[in-house]
Order: sequence, then structure tokens, then C-alpha cells
Amino acid sequence: MKISEIFKKKKQGISFEFFPPKSPGGKDAFLKVAKDLSAYDPLYVSVTYGAGGTTQDRTINTLKWIKEETDLTVMSHLTCIGATRASLNSLLKEYEAHGIDNILALRGDPPKNVPDFDLEQGEFKYAKNLVDFVKKYDYFSIAVAVYPEGHLQSPSLEKDLEFTKQKIDAGADFAITQMFFDNRYFYEFMDRAAKQGITIPILPGIMPIIDCKKIVEFAGFCNTTVPQEVLDRMEPVMDVPEEMRKLGVEFAVKQCEDLMKHGVKYFHFYTMNRSDTVSEIVKALGKKAF
Ligand code: FAD
Repeated sequence: MKISEIFKKKKQGISFEFFPPKSPGGKDAFLKVAKDLSAYDPLYVSVTYGAGGTTQDRTINTLKWIKEETDLTVMSHLTCIGATRASLNSLLKEYEAHGIDNILALRGDPPKNVPDFDLEQGEFKYAKNLVDFVKKYDYFSIAVAVYPEGHLQSPSLEKDLEFTKQKIDAGADFAITQMFFDNRYFYEFMDRAAKQGITIPILPGIMPIIDCKKIVEFAGFCNTTVPQEVLDRMEPVMDVPEEMRKLGVEFAVKQCEDLMKHGVKYFHFYTMNRSDTVSEIVKALGKKAF
């Protein structure tokens, strides 16, 4: 089902993001996570797409498994990098044949193993170009990514919002944010977006801090601020994984509660393919979240 239609019916709810299991042997464990999380009646679940299109097959296989084994609505992430019109035509036709009718249109990041990768090359330069292309099919509900603290390569917050508005106006039905840990960035972004006339649903991307060191590293790459207060609380438990995870749950619950107080109705959870952490967060939030 198209997610744009789901938003019309459900005025609150949550979604979950997965990545394709790294090996075919991971199918059963992956499906257990997806089935466990289906208990929370998510709006949809999404599956990431590897840098340079490297996991194209794994992404579509994962989407098919979810469709075969659950009643969940699925969305495929899709990137410009590595895509040609011909490759996208055949992929989108395959999606249509399998009833996969939701796409998160992204530019993507260069593959890590290609240091001099030229982002200027390729048939699709920006996410907006992908939105334009997918829109022509008149079959998919389309989402885009947005950045409360600005995208790392944007020259300014103003330019970032200008480009964001362009890709939304090209035909996005909703947007999902990059992870953030200080809600003020989200509220300020929402204010700026509203002033530009952006009215589509914008789902905050909630990343539970399971491994603080990894998150700090990833945050630098994503232009996300990890507040000093979070780092100070994490410091004593850095080498105690379960304690760190519990603290990560506590932070995420507080973050979501504050967002709810500010009127946020929809949440997108980065699950890291685990059901325990997100389940604890969602249970703590209670029925008011989904
Ligand atoms: P764009 O919107 O194209 O923006 C990229 C940069 O170009 C920005 O700096 C923007 O300001 C600039 N720009 C845009 N338009 C113009 C213009 N007309 N002129 C000049 N500059 C312009 N990556 C993956 O590889 N696979 C995934 O599955 C994946 N999933 C993600 C899910 C979410 C929710 C998020 C937030 C990100 C995800 N990413 C994923 C990462 C994403 O691909 C990167 O953040 C990427 O660097 C930017 O993608 P975008 O779609 O936002 O790009």
C-alpha cells in the first residue's frame, strides 16, 4: 500500500528501518526481527540500499521476504549513485511486479572503497533527479531525506533548505530526517521548513545509541551533533555494552517524549536490525506512540 494513503488514515504511528542481512543465512534471524516489530503495527518498514548500488539484489530480496512473510508495508531506499536510466527502469518495473510501491529517493554516498569517486558523474546527480524519474511512473509513493543540522556538503542551512524544498516540490509525499540527538535542531528545522511552505509529514529519524563510539564516528560523517551531556553520561559505561544500550534506550525515550510534547505524531526508528532496543523504547512510550 502506498504510504501516502496510510498517512491519510493514520494520524500517528511509527516506522522501522532495516538493512539487508549481510549473508543469505541471515534471512531467518532477520525475519524474526521484522515479525517481532510487526507487533507494533508500524506504518511501514524500509530497507536500505548500499553505497554505489552494491546491495541492490540484497535490498530487493529482503523486501520480497518481508512481503512474503508478513503483512507489513515496505519501502525501498534507492540511490542515484551507480544508477542509469536503463538500470532504474528495469528495477522499478521489478518493484511494480512485486507490489513494492514506496521509494525513499536518495543521492547516496560514494562507496568507501573508491576514494576518488566522482559524484559529478552518473546519470542522476541529486535526489531531486531521482524523484523526477520515479514520479513519472505514477505508481510509487515517494519519500526523501532531510537534515535538521544541514547536509554535510551543503554550503549553508539556507541553501540546504532551498535544495530540500526543490526535491520535495518535485513530488515527495513525506520526508525522514537524518539522526539527531538534540531536539532543538529538529524544532528549528521544522520552523524554517514551515516558513518555506513545506507541509508534508516529516518523520524524525530516531537512532538509539547502542554503541556510543560507533555513533560518535558516524555522527561526524552525518553532520550530527552528539551533545556533551550524552557523552558525559555514556562515559562511565563505554566498556559495558548492556549498560550503554540501556542508557541509549533511556535517551531515546526521553527524546521521543519531548518530541511528542511538541506535537510530533510520527517516528522513524533506525533499528540496526535488532528488535530488543526499539521494542523497549516503543513499549516505554506506550500506546500514545502507535
Ligand atoms: P541530495 O538531496 O541530492 O543532497 C546531496 C547534497 O547535494 C546536499 O549537500 C545538497 O545540499 C546538495 N544539493 C542538492 N541539490 C543541489 C543542487 N541543485 N545544486 C547544488 N547542490 C545541491 N545512503 C545510502 O547509500 N543508502 C541508503 O539506504 C540510505 N538511506 C538513508 C536514509 C535516511 C533517512 C537518510 C537521512 C540518509 C540515508 N542515506 C542513505 C544517506 C544519503 O544517501 C546521504 O546523506 C547523501 O549524502 C545525501 O543524500 P540525499 O538524498 O539527501 O541527497
